[in-house]
Amino acid sequence: MSSEQNKVDLSIVVPVKNEAQLIASFIESVTNQCLSMDVTFELLIVNDGSTDDTLAELLLLQTQFPNLVIINLSRNFGKEIALTAGLDYCSGKAVIPMDADFQDPPELIPDLFKQLHQGFDVVLARRSDRRSDAVSKRFFAKVFHWVFKKISETEIEADAGDYRILTERVVQVIRNMPERTRFMKGILSWPGFKTSEVFYQRPVRAKGNSKLSFSHLVKVGLDGLFSFSTAPLRFWTYLGIVLALSSILYMLFTIVKTIVWGIDVPGYASLLTFVLLIGGVNLIGIGILGEYVGRIFLEVKNRPLYVVESVLKSNSKSKNQNTYSANDG
Ligand code: UDP
Ligand code: MG
Repeated sequence: MSSEQNKVDLSIVVPVKNEAQLIASFIESVTNQCLSMDVTFELLIVNDGSTDDTLAELLLLQTQFPNLVIINLSRNFGKEIALTAGLDYCSGKAVIPMDADFQDPPELIPDLFKQLHQGFDVVLARRSDRRSDAVSKRFFAKVFHWVFKKISETEIEADAGDYRILTERVVQVIRNMPERTRFMKGILSWPGFKTSEVFYQRPVRAKGNSKLSFSHLVKVGLDGLFSFSTAPLRFWTYLGIVLALSSILYMLFTIVKTIVWGIDVPGYASLLTFVLLIGGVNLIGIGILGEYVGRIFLEVKNRPLYVVESVLKSNSKSKNQNTYSANDG
């Protein structure tokens, strides 16, 4: 990565897709916060295959905001991977990943930075409540966190998103996590280190619509469970043992019953029920196995996580490059 002199005090890393409506005000707001802190900083915007005027806006803004660095991906890779690209490219001694829609309020940046320098490696921005989320989203988030806590050894906070500040050494650990299934909340929390928190009220999105569909959130949830725990696999072993033991007991019961009362014909209904039950249970087990095998398949292909079309800094005109490695040296 960059040599010690090239490092800035603070990197802000923001994945964006189709945020032309609010990117200008966001960049202005973040820049003002950073300027008020008297630190050297860079604002890394990762353009995640926007199809609106986001890139044009960004290029225009760069003439006004020299600290703005644009990491232009070759297509849409999804928020998690765009954020990963930003973390690979940033060079700050402290790094803040955040969303561009003002749901992660820029006013919190000075607090996060101050708190970090009281001897922490991570300071989480935690929501004091989830009122800005729809009831259904809150419900699924609750269920997800309950299950995750039960089956994973990595701890993630229920009321924190990606918004947090990390020291360089935590970011370095994250850069060395090569997995393709990017469950960012888990990945950001996995390194551990001494962690503190600040609380805030999460506002609703400032403008435009959410760029993450409900089905995407379901996918992220399943990714989280399957990539941070093998408990779903083990569950089938336990269930298999329980079913095997029950069938032995049932067999013994049948033998005794036959000896004492003799054989009678009825029993088709219960037999059919059990056959269907076992068949269904088998299929679910195979399905779960498939979830893991699918993920192994994605990992062994060992494709690059993302492709950077260009890195645009305000001083150097255009550094066109195709970066095929996640860890750009
Ligand atoms: N985003 C992205 N790539 C995508 C979808 C979203 O970089 O494919 C960005 C988006 O521009 C925003 C952040 O990820 O800065 C969070 O997205 P959004 O606010 O739409 O998600 P929500 O807050 O609804 O979960
Ligand atoms: Mg949002």
